[in-house]
Amino acid sequence: MPEYEPVIGLEVHAQLLTRSKLFCPCSTEFGKSPNSNVCPVCLGLPGSLPVLNAKALRLAVRAATALGCTIQSRSIFARKNYFYPDLPKGYQISQYEEPFSTRGKLDIRVDGVERTAGITRVHMEEDAGKNVHGVGGDSSVDLNRAGVPLIEIVGDPDLRSSAEAAAYLKTLRDLLIFIGVNDGNLEEGSFRCDANVSIRPKGSEELGTRTELKNINSFRFVQRAIDVEIARQGAILDAGGKIDQQTRSYDPDTNKTATLRSKEDAHDYRYFPEPDLPPLVIDDDLVRSERAKIAKLPQELRAEYVAELGLSEQAAVTLTQHPEYVRFFDEARQLFPEPVKIANWVLTEVLRDTHVRGLSAEFPVSPEQVAELVRLVSGGEISGKQAKVVFSLIQGTSKSPGAVVEERGMRVVSDEGELEALCSGIVRANEKQAAMYRAGKTGLLGYFVGQAMKKTGGSANPKLVNQIFQRILGGSEPA
Ligand code: ADP
Ligand code: MG
Ligand code: ZN
Repeated sequence: MPEYEPVIGLEVHAQLLTRSKLFCPCSTEFGKSPNSNVCPVCLGLPGSLPVLNAKALRLAVRAATALGCTIQSRSIFARKNYFYPDLPKGYQISQYEEPFSTRGKLDIRVDGVERTAGITRVHMEEDAGKNVHGVGGDSSVDLNRAGVPLIEIVGDPDLRSSAEAAAYLKTLRDLLIFIGVNDGNLEEGSFRCDANVSIRPKGSEELGTRTELKNINSFRFVQRAIDVEIARQGAILDAGGKIDQQTRSYDPDTNKTATLRSKEDAHDYRYFPEPDLPPLVIDDDLVRSERAKIAKLPQELRAEYVAELGLSEQAAVTLTQHPEYVRFFDEARQLFPEPVKIANWVLTEVLRDTHVRGLSAEFPVSPEQVAELVRLVSGGEISGKQAKVVFSLIQGTSKSPGAVVEERGMRVVSDEGELEALCSGIVRANEKQAAMYRAGKTGLLGYFVGQAMKKTGGSANPKLVNQIFQRILGGSEPA
């Protein structure tokens, strides 16, 4: 049996974050009562005319630019004709032969290895409505989504494993969120993916016949569905069979893919140019102003954090996962310019209790609080251990760390006289250990320091205590 190489190309539909639809003023708000966000345009009533949403165009250009695509100064909207109850006009307005952008790329990272996947094209289109089955034994149609602006990002067949496909999707989603184009919500359908999968004998250059897995709504399922499909195709070829070009669905409960339709019944969409919309002209100013909004992509920021701030690769990757993480970190490090220490706190403490929803993130503390806390530790005013306690006390409050330290009397004791009295007391109370130390068991120093820390509730300056004990126990001074 030959060994096979999987080939995967993804088509992603991402909703643009506009308040109104692509060609009419209807709201795009999710979860409204069925058919409340509709008008003659998105209902496809005769005589109504589409008008392009300028904000949608800007966001689409921003996304294509971030993916390194070439923006076409002139492109064409087309009608994609098919009959389905959720499509009131009988066609979807999309772009076909002349999309507004072509040829981009996405850098992905799998198991620490960087790879580049090609982007074939990005085009704009409108979403369809939704059939709701089982309403009183019937099916109903909700057209709230009809006409919602989408971009379709068509990827080249460049991915070679389900892990690469998952990484591609995750990277793409993070990027779109980062530039404010999409909210990345797979459950609500604002980020959807179709996976095209084929296999070929290892070493072969020719593409195998592909199947298309439709609308899989979680990253975990995408990866599993692709693996299942790769195995299914492999078994067919091993048995001497041929792959049928099909559209298939994936059922997470059975972990199997099943035929939806075969190529024989594939649609002939009879695309033709949309006569109600003029050719789309995108001028340089628009492209320039959108490019300016994405001056720094996560990848560039990451490189900067590593090279200029001295963060570890891992720290930089995590901090650039969300634009709000970046904002938080940047704000905190501007208030106290010790980026490595700030990053450490953000990564280990702050993000643990941070809740992300789409473009926003809710942090347990503010950048000001983190900066002040790190300053207190750095200046030796409180110990690292005390800082954790302070952190737990300021979480969810607007209290300043300094105020909490005062309130609790947590300041590190660095008064030498006070500490010397304390240490002498400890040595007197532990004559036996002191004698052993002087006889050479210097490892007992830790025991003494531990006593001092215990007695002061952890607030003694450990460095100072260490020095004092060494001096007293060294025998040069009587206890
Ligand atoms: P459509 O799905 O509308 O027929 P295309 O033929 O352009 O459109 O292909 C769409 C997607 O299928 C692209 O993402 C592309 O990378 C992927 N693709 C095309 N051929 C193959 C193949 N043999 N194996 C895997 N993916 C493929
Ligand atoms: Mg397709
Ligand atoms: Zn409308």
